[in-house]
Amino acid sequence: MKFRPYNQAQTRFVNLNYREILGEDSDAVVISDIIDLMDLSHIESQFVEVGNIAFDPKEMMKILVYGYFKGYFGGRPLHKNYKNDLGLRYLSNDDFPDFRTINNFRIKFKDEIADVFAQVVMLCKSLGMIGFKNLSIDGQKIKANANVFQNKNLKGIKREKEKIEKLLRKLLDNEIEFKSEDDKQKKKKKLEKRKKKLEDATKLLIEAGAENDDGLRYNLSDPEAKIMTDKRGVKNPDYNAQNAVDDKFEILTAVNVIDNPSDSGQLDPMKEESENNTGSTHENTLADSGYPDKDTFERMEKDTTTEYYVPDKTMHSSRNDPYSKWNFQYHKDLDIYFCPQGVKLSYVRTCKDKDGFEYRLYQAEDCSGCPVSDKCRRKSKNGNKKINNRTISIYPQDEAVKRMRKKLDSEDGKKIYQRRMSTVEPLHGDMQKNRGFTQFVLRGLEKVNVEYNLLAIAHNVRKIILHGAKALKEYLVKAQITA
Ligand code: SF4
Repeated sequence: MKFRPYNQAQTRFVNLNYREILGEDSDAVVISDIIDLMDLSHIESQFVEVGNIAFDPKEMMKILVYGYFKGYFGGRPLHKNYKNDLGLRYLSNDDFPDFRTINNFRIKFKDEIADVFAQVVMLCKSLGMIGFKNLSIDGQKIKANANVFQNKNLKGIKREKEKIEKLLRKLLDNEIEFKSEDDKQKKKKKLEKRKKKLEDATKLLIEAGAENDDGLRYNLSDPEAKIMTDKRGVKNPDYNAQNAVDDKFEILTAVNVIDNPSDSGQLDPMKEESENNTGSTHENTLADSGYPDKDTFERMEKDTTTEYYVPDKTMHSSRNDPYSKWNFQYHKDLDIYFCPQGVKLSYVRTCKDKDGFEYRLYQAEDCSGCPVSDKCRRKSKNGNKKINNRTISIYPQDEAVKRMRKKLDSEDGKKIYQRRMSTVEPLHGDMQKNRGFTQFVLRGLEKVNVEYNLLAIAHNVRKIILHGAKALKEYLVKAQITA
């Protein structure tokens, strides 16, 4: 015979052991083992003995983590894939929950899922996968489940409301034809629902001062999402996902999603959350220039628990700008600055900026006839006109900024700061490009945080599979012995 027997109609009577078929190193088996190590008593205790028998929280957690690991981000995609995915069949023991049950579990136990993330971080620590050398903090913009065209200002909302009211009037006056009364009632309900949404949005926008500010906008599909500009310069309703990453194996030690496009003010909370989750402090903390505020540099110097490597906003641009205030020479005894043309800038007065920070204002004696004045003189604050004689603002905090710049420019500083790029950038790429998590599925800040915690658990589990499989096996043996 030329070919092996091939008959797809052949039936079998077999004894299946999914774990054996998948193998001990398979993703599903490792996820199962890891979740078995977690303490889920805070979830279990919320179920009561009476009523329908619930799915085991361990099963639900395993299914959800596996979903975010494989790119099935929610109940429907999980349900769609479970029959053809042996991993899901193993994790559910072929008793797969309805997609609503999965989604409801995900929303109901949002705090508990964040706690499971913290437990996975501690497991990574126990496996020796966190080096505690360099902690990089960075944010990535992730699209909200919101339509950019649903982002409207007060005028836009009022316009649409008028349109809806007109349609409703026509509908009630029987000026629109419908196939049936049922269709008419459905349309009426839909229009009324939209009208209510627009009324709520109007109220919120007016409270926020939108009557005097056309720039204030409200997204009708996810009101908590904000328009943010991503790295490619594209504007979208987004959330800003904050990450703290250890550089040994890119383990996420803390995550938090915020509804503010700016990273400012996130350095301390992210560092503290990382310390809470790991129980330890990193030797170095790295972040980009979007994180520090004016007073952050002095605070960072006082914090002796870690060494910070954080540039200020103008550090890089001022390097190539001889007319930046940072490149003016200071004469301490005379309390004057010299510009690159050798002109004196003397103290004029002490002022306060819009954030309440005091600064000393210095002004050049005479800039008329200066051959480089076009490059040097800055535009006045209230218009495009360039001010006559150049002024510079010197803050007391500038001294701490200078010391930070010196540290970052040192050979060691450069090497350490480079670790940030090779730690956080691959993480963002991995989550969005490789895993396909380019948009949140859920809406609202609380719910997107649940999703991000699940994504972070899946990320750390993937790192365990890649770099800590052997350590995990030894850990599991020890755990079984002590159990
Ligand atoms: S514009 Fe004034 S401060 Fe600037 S380089 Fe010329 S003389 Fe100096």
